[in-house]
Amino acid sequence: MLDKMIGFIGAGNMGSAMIGGILDASLVTTSQIIASAHSPETLDKIRTKFSIETTQSNEVVAERSDILFLAVKPNKFSEVLPQIKGHLKPDCIVVSIAAGQPIANIEALLGEVRLIRAMPNTPALVGAAMSALCPNDKVTPEEVKLVESLFNSFGRAEVVPESMMDAVVGVSGSSPAYVYMFIEAMADAAVADGMPRAQAYKFAAQSVLGAAKMVLETGKHPGELKDAVCSPGGTTIEAVAALEHGGFRDTVISAQRACSKKSYDMS
Ligand code: NAP
Repeated sequence: MLDKMIGFIGAGNMGSAMIGGILDASLVTTSQIIASAHSPETLDKIRTKFSIETTQSNEVVAERSDILFLAVKPNKFSEVLPQIKGHLKPDCIVVSIAAGQPIANIEALLGEVRLIRAMPNTPALVGAAMSALCPNDKVTPEEVKLVESLFNSFGRAEVVPESMMDAVVGVSGSSPAYVYMFIEAMADAAVADGMPRAQAYKFAAQSVLGAAKMVLETGKHPGELKDAVCSPGGTTIEAVAALEHGGFRDTVISAQRACSKKSYDMS
């Protein structure tokens, strides 16, 4: 159990997923989390759901927090950051999860603070996020480990240099959308072959989940795992050949690089 007060400014999709993960992992008790949001409806919802303290005052959250998550949309930063500047505890660790907000931009608004720029993804909602963390030079390695443990409570987290953040947006921030398209396409094919739609989504999604676990848990190269499924003259190699003919890998690489370039252009 951590001996820290954790604050959230913003408790929408990501904020509430993170609060849920941290509480489920019993890293802190409900009395160690405080959150603010814009509307009374959201505050009521998260107070009821998590039994945590809520307030409409971002200043109060800042004053109380040892670790403060900024979980508002990036376009709210110019409004919210000047509000909390001057209300932060001297050794508070500020963690921004906003897309396209570089460390330098946040420091320009908040001044000299311990700051970690992070990028989780929406599978945080089911405890399976992939998150990247970039600390500024004021955060100690122990503090990074502490924040990493919070992110690990709703998935996996790794420290990367800030120069990798656009690649992170492409490979994990946005990639659930490409995988959903892949699942949808596989299910469409199964439906075309006569399988009921709901069952087709289950078969396709579970296969993607299983293949991902094979990569993560066996440590084998994805190409080796692919080769192991392709019997000579069999069914799978027919699909692999058709995917190559359709430019599957080239399309994925081009799409993901378009995404990371957009991220670069936006920040
Ligand atoms: P969201 O669901 O719209 O949540 C935003 C939250 O901010 C809401 O609870 C909102 O309150 C609150 N808020 C708005 N104005 C506020 C203010 N002035 N003071 C305090 N709280 C305020 O957005 P989200 O999807 O969770 O995204 C939050 C952040 O996560 C963004 O910066 C985004 O870039 C980042 N992110 C998102 C994803 C993703 O895939 N969604 C992935 C990685 C990172 P109300 O609920 O009352 O309106």
